[in-house]
Amino acid sequence: MSVLVYTESENGKFKKNAFEVASYANEVASQLGTSAIAISFNVQDDERLGEYGISKVLKVSNEHLKTFSAKAFADAIAQAVKKENAKAVIVSSSADTKFMAPLLAAKLKAGYVPNVVSAPENVDPFTVKRTAFSNKGFAHTQINTDIKIVGVSNNAFGQHEKKLNLEIEGFNPEIDESCFSVKSFEVDKVVGKATIADADIVVSGGRGLKGPENWGMIEELAEVLGAATACSKPVSDLGWRPHGEHVGQTGKPVASNLYIAIGISGAIQHLAGVSASKTKVVINTDPEAPFFRAADYGIVGDAFEVVPKLIEKLKDFKA
Ligand SMILES: Cc1cc2nc3c(=O)[nH]c(=O)nc-3n(C[C@H](O)[C@H](O)[C@H](O)COP(=O)(O)OP(=O)(O)OC[C@H]3O[C@@H](n4cnc5c(N)ncnc54)[C@H](O)[C@@H]3O)c2cc1C
Repeated sequence: MSVLVYTESENGKFKKNAFEVASYANEVASQLGTSAIAISFNVQDDERLGEYGISKVLKVSNEHLKTFSAKAFADAIAQAVKKENAKAVIVSSSADTKFMAPLLAAKLKAGYVPNVVSAPENVDPFTVKRTAFSNKGFAHTQINTDIKIVGVSNNAFGQHEKKLNLEIEGFNPEIDESCFSVKSFEVDKVVGKATIADADIVVSGGRGLKGPENWGMIEELAEVLGAATACSKPVSDLGWRPHGEHVGQTGKPVASNLYIAIGISGAIQHLAGVSASKTKVVINTDPEAPFFRAADYGIVGDAFEVVPKLIEKLKDFKA
């Protein structure tokens, strides 16, 4: 019996969440009295997983799996689960994985719980805590199937170093040609900028910024902090910012360590997508803005005065 973790990567390098899910797998393995094994796809630095409690990596090197394919990855992971007799499978809650994990669950006849925010509360019965109702509540959920799949929320469990001797074993799953009925030929990605999914800090602007010409200060603040930029729905609907930056119930979810909301009222649909962030800072002229009730820190003030001062202070601090 073992615990298997799917570690996500891009261009041969692990994504940040790979070390978080590896740490989580190690925790589940120690609760179950077994070891944590990882599966990686076309990664060059597998040995890093040995720093996060992984004892063995099944290393897949396959040209056809260089870009993500939900069906093919589910097929490969299912074969790894059977090979290692894994009873728990740990994955992230990224958009790609949320697409792939239900296919894997169907293949393995496994129960799947995404958006899990802490270590299992119990392993018999297997019980996890996850967010529910667009992050407005928690559900304590039992998984009663033989194989359990747990999707860990970004930044919820954290990375925990634990050095182990790591064995790296080549693994060559047989992938059915039908898995490649949908193929990605090329992925064009913005480079040199933090993405909303991976960023520790997100700086977000709303309609209070009046127009796209005022986003210079949002971008500058994001640059000083090494943050990703985001926006409210009307801002992207108005074409002030690209749709990829829209966060909230109908946009991207944000689970960063710090979320700075500038000129955003805090409508329920916006809060639904950002409330998993650890610390929320709100800058708004209206002391009655609903966002202040969800904020950890609030500044009642005009963004056009507050943000430049914040940038100046941060630059001084960094210097
Ligand atoms: C089905 C549905 C789904 C939706 N999904 C989403 C979603 O996913 N994400 C989302 O964001 N919205 C969503 N919405 C829209 C949501 O209800 C709100 O309308 C929207 O979030 C408001 O955007 P806003 O806060 O930028 O604008 P506003 O509500 O217009 O708020 C602007 C804020 O800026 C403040 N302000 C004004 N001037 C300044 C200044 N100089 N300095 C500082 N503050 C200032 C104002 O006090 C105000 O609080 C959805 C709505 C529906 C019906």
